[in-house]
Amino acid sequence: MVAYVSDMRSDLLVPRSSAVVDAVAGAFRDRPAMDSGEDPHEAHLLSQVCDLLGCEAGLFLPTCTMANQVAVRCWLPSGGPVAADALSHIFTVEHKALGLTGAAPQAIPSQAGHITPQAIADYLTENEQTPCLVWLENTHNLAGGSIMPAGWQVEIAGHCAEAARPLHLDGSRLWNAAAADGQELASLAEGVSSVALSLNKAVGAPMGAVLAGPRALIEQADQVRKAMSGEWRPIGPLAAGALAAIQGWRERLHHDHETAREIAAGLQSRLGDVAVSSPETNIIMLHCPMGSAGKIVAFADERGVKVLPISDRLIRFAIHGGVDRKAVPFIVEVVTKAWEHVL
Ligand SMILES: *Cc1c(COP(=O)(O)O)cnc(C)c1O
Repeated sequence: MVAYVSDMRSDLLVPRSSAVVDAVAGAFRDRPAMDSGEDPHEAHLLSQVCDLLGCEAGLFLPTCTMANQVAVRCWLPSGGPVAADALSHIFTVEHKALGLTGAAPQAIPSQAGHITPQAIADYLTENEQTPCLVWLENTHNLAGGSIMPAGWQVEIAGHCAEAARPLHLDGSRLWNAAAADGQELASLAEGVSSVALSLNKAVGAPMGAVLAGPRALIEQADQVRKAMSGEWRPIGPLAAGALAAIQGWRERLHHDHETAREIAAGLQSRLGDVAVSSPETNIIMLHCPMGSAGKIVAFADERGVKVLPISDRLIRFAIHGGVDRKAVPFIVEVVTKAWEHVL
């Protein structure tokens, strides 16, 4: 057993604050609500999240994967292509779920995970007859938490509107993009037809995600959620916990991003800046020699630093509120030792 553990395998491992725990416990003392829609905590949560996103209506769902999958079913009821970056979460982690919808992945040329306005304009022109769903991810997970370049979304939204095609934003980490850029969530959700936002990662709700958009879409999404057995009841305690979690998010995420920059700078000074990405938000990527990622991860794990192998040559660090700034030198030391040991 090691004395100290810094677990950066995912930002969903953020410790839940006592405000969140107290809110959950408090809501358990209320009279439970029968159905979604009847619960005051849920109504309060959705109205705050919709205000933040500038959306008309929202649906509280168990996971962001489900929020994405409900969106696919609403926008492509008879299947068709989902046009997105090749390494987007919907194509990599969610490919099996996507397969169940009858939708098919259509990779679009991109830069640092973000499909370019020109590439999507070309695709829509060449495939005028095919109903499709255009898909964005901000920040982009596998591109190392990269932020979509300013102006691209509005331009892409313009192309989609012209072609009368829906545009979905997988904003699982939109919180991080907004904190890093000093933007409002609403301006980062501008122009999209629907947006999915995680509550269990950056902000540290007990669990859950929100799908938001126009009221007509969300009414349809509510039916799809029921069909997918995703209506959780009673909902009050989880909604109350999520509501507590979203307070003060911006300052907390600034702190996470600074921690990420400190860890990356420490690693770059030891391993070089070819191996270590320069984080824009809370994710650091370590590019390892072919075949070494698993060994580096195992060596670091035994010494109390947990990170996630993405492939045999790529390791992800997801920084969250539980990664102590004082532990940065320790983390840098362990990962450097692991690298030197394996190579
Ligand atoms: C984590 C993640 C999801 C899915 O969230 P879950 O709540 O774990 O289902 C979707 N998209 C992106 C980009 C993610 O990083």
